[in-house]
Amino acid sequence: MRIELAGFCIRCGICEDLYPDLYKRNYQDHCMDVLYETIPAELQERAVQSAADCAVAAIKIIRD
Ligand code: SF4
Repeated sequence: MRIELAGFCIRCGICEDLYPDLYKRNYQDHCMDVLYETIPAELQERAVQSAADCAVAAIKIIRD
């Protein structure tokens, strides 16, 4: 499983606030970073939940 962030992400930071184990604000590049290339099994449920919690649906779950 991977996470892709859409270009229309508004950088509200809610994903980092709720899921700091998955997302981090990147102040240098003015974007959000996903902390894992491949989401570890123990975080996959949270990753799916984070996609549901993004107000603009910018988080896309890619299942390999
Ligand atoms: S919650 Fe959604 S819109 Fe907000 S920073 Fe995260 S990915 Fe972007």
